[in-house]
Amino acid sequence: MFEKVLIANRGEIALRIHRACREMGIRTVAVHSQADENAMHVRLADEAICIGPPSATHSYLNIPAIVSAAEISGADAIHPGYGFLSENANFAEIVGDHGITFIGPKPEHIRVMGDKIEAKRTARSLGIPCVPGSEGELTTAADALATAKKIGYPVLIKAASGGGGRGMKVARSESELEQAYSTARAEAKAAFGDDAVYMEKYLDKPRHIEIQVMCDSHGNVVHLGERDCSLQRRHQKVLEESPSPALNDRDRTKIGGIVSDAMKKLGYLGVGTVEFLYEDGEFYFIEMNTRLQVEHPVTEMITGIDIVREQIRIAAGLPMENSQQDIVFQGHAIECRINAEDPVTFSPTPGKITEYHPPGGLNVRVDSALYAGYSVPPNYDSLIAKLVVHGKTRNACLMRLRRALEEFVVGGVSTTIPLHARLIQNPGFIDGVYHIHWLEEFLAKKE
Ligand code: ADP
Repeated sequence: MFEKVLIANRGEIALRIHRACREMGIRTVAVHSQADENAMHVRLADEAICIGPPSATHSYLNIPAIVSAAEISGADAIHPGYGFLSENANFAEIVGDHGITFIGPKPEHIRVMGDKIEAKRTARSLGIPCVPGSEGELTTAADALATAKKIGYPVLIKAASGGGGRGMKVARSESELEQAYSTARAEAKAAFGDDAVYMEKYLDKPRHIEIQVMCDSHGNVVHLGERDCSLQRRHQKVLEESPSPALNDRDRTKIGGIVSDAMKKLGYLGVGTVEFLYEDGEFYFIEMNTRLQVEHPVTEMITGIDIVREQIRIAAGLPMENSQQDIVFQGHAIECRINAEDPVTFSPTPGKITEYHPPGGLNVRVDSALYAGYSVPPNYDSLIAKLVVHGKTRNACLMRLRRALEEFVVGGVSTTIPLHARLIQNPGFIDGVYHIHWLEEFLAKKE
């Protein structure tokens, strides 16, 4: 097992990884920007190294600084968390070249899944059902027109290097297509430095359902069921739950089996998430995330498995502790992503936290690096806490979540806590009949 792990991240996820390491008797090295000198993960880690100025490009994305920090501190592994360098195949390779273990998948799999056209091609060849669309990249507007004619409108133009819901354009008819095609290309170029785009059938009211997988270096593969992440704003997840109110046991076992078989064939290593849109009983692959996800605690709550611990054990070459038969899904879990944002306009609200009182009690988990007196810096993502609640049934979970949101006090900055409180009392949400556009419709109604 590793003796010392460098955590190449910040905020709640850096703390999450630190906690797993601590419980495994592993020492931790925090790296931080100048803006994060007083961050919780810096305070708790065994060692801390400043790797640059506040801007992420010069700190949390600064590969030479991070690798040097690992060498200086003698870390034998690096955990990248999510975001930042977690899906950067070059980083994974460079880390390996320095004799340090990258806690994540093989660079070739990060690379394949990072190119969404290649990812779809690979998924199809592994027997995973995909959204109907172009065979590969669309190279001309004529190509786009011909493909759209074949699959039928509405269609969605997506960036091959896309991420974070950016670079997507819908065309509802032929008259909208040329414009959508050229705008998507230009936006993709501006956002990702790559103007390659592809086309998918635009599904009207699907749910976003994703399957968590774990694969060790001994050929064992398990899936940990699904997470329903349909509640999104601008293609960004806001609240996640498991099990999905839309799936039955048969569908769950079927899609879990398809994903596990595919990962086995691929020779995937570590943890990953295969994302699908789900409509009228059918699953359609959209992408695979080759890293730990923000919403992983939802799965931990219903399986009792510490995914970060497993991830570290797998990277160290150990076999997984559970086989598929050992994995039992118990009860229901919901996660609310709490952001330092105005709950109506969603503009970021960085600033000093004057008061902090997280909720507690049975089956209430708060993953957060906040404390009273801490200043939320303006330089990074606005996620400040994840409230994750478990209950025997979905209804019990909702009652507990409502109570926990009532208790949650964050003073000094506006947060999205009131939005979650409103959302979970809506009859549509309570009935579980939502889809990926539901939340935006809900928000539009209230404004
Ligand atoms: P990103 O990598 O930018 O997050 P994804 O391919 O994962 O992009 O898609 C993000 C979200 O966009 C999905 O969760 C869904 O809400 C929407 N989306 C993606 N593809 C389609 C599609 N073919 N039809 C309808 N909505 C889609």
